[in-house]
Amino acid sequence: LIQLSVPLNFIGFVYREIRQGLTDIEQMFDLLDVKAEVVDKPDAKPLAIAQGAIRFENVHFAYDPERPILKGISFEVPAGKTVAIVGPSGAGKSTISRLLYRFYDIQQGAITIDGQDVRDITQTSLRSVIGMVPQDTVLFNDTIAYNIRYGRISASEDEVLKAAEIAQIGTFIRSLPDGFKTMVGERGLKLSGGEKQRVAIARTILKAPPILILDEATSALDTTTEQEIQSALDLVSQNRTTLVIAHRLSTVINADEIIVLRHGEIAERGTHAALLEQNGLYASMWNRQREATQAEEHLRQVRESD
Ligand code: ATP
Repeated sequence: LIQLSVPLNFIGFVYREIRQGLTDIEQMFDLLDVKAEVVDKPDAKPLAIAQGAIRFENVHFAYDPERPILKGISFEVPAGKTVAIVGPSGAGKSTISRLLYRFYDIQQGAITIDGQDVRDITQTSLRSVIGMVPQDTVLFNDTIAYNIRYGRISASEDEVLKAAEIAQIGTFIRSLPDGFKTMVGERGLKLSGGEKQRVAIARTILKAPPILILDEATSALDTTTEQEIQSALDLVSQNRTTLVIAHRLSTVINADEIIVLRHGEIAERGTHAALLEQNGLYASMWNRQREATQAEEHLRQVRESD
């Protein structure tokens, strides 16, 4: 038994080591598989970016032809404005961000940036103008400075520090014994979801893209972290065309327009105040989330008073 379990353990160890090394690359290019589906047209041109206005026009999309996910979605994100997509889990929110990045091609309709169909431009030029703050950021097994600088390799040390400050992660980094030289990633310091997201925000600040996609983490964050992330996001999205895929409604209050998605269709749209007034799906989601927050807050107080 011993003879058998040792080699198996050893193989497991080697396997994990190899996997660890692959994780970054795999996750970074997680979408390579997908990318193969999407190819540049022979006459694809680089995107001529003006202000970065986004338009979805009657967009139909399905991953699997049997199961439509988006059923005729139309909306605009005017240059420099913020539009938030909210709705129940599985409604197709993150799919919208993947389509804007052109990880998949749509079956009907059009997605344009400054009037140019994303299918007519090169993928490289498309992705160079979009900054993506994903749900779960992949960190390289390297220093935290390297991980931030990844947004723009040519950035100076000073710019890296400034980006970290704006992203509200500077204080945290400076509190670490090795500061910006701290190794992070699977083999280094493990950062929390909220910390990782702020590293992603710092990266995006360095990239300074005209268009921003924020795909909010689904995982619950404590109120302080949430507020820190929110103020970082507010700063980075200023004067940038921003599409927010929101799981927490507290983050969308100030959006220029909120789109409520349900079963791949737009159920409601408007500002936060107008949607509350309507007293429909958004209002009920809002009330439910507020009750949940109050319950958590109450629990926390009870625990603290013990
Ligand atoms: P959540 O709030 O839970 O993140 P969401 O509104 O962002 O949900 P999407 O991630 O856009 O939802 O997914 C919409 C639907 O598409 C889901 O039913 C999901 O199972 C399906 N889906 C997502 N990605 C794929 C994929 N790569 N292949 C097949 N189906 C997928």
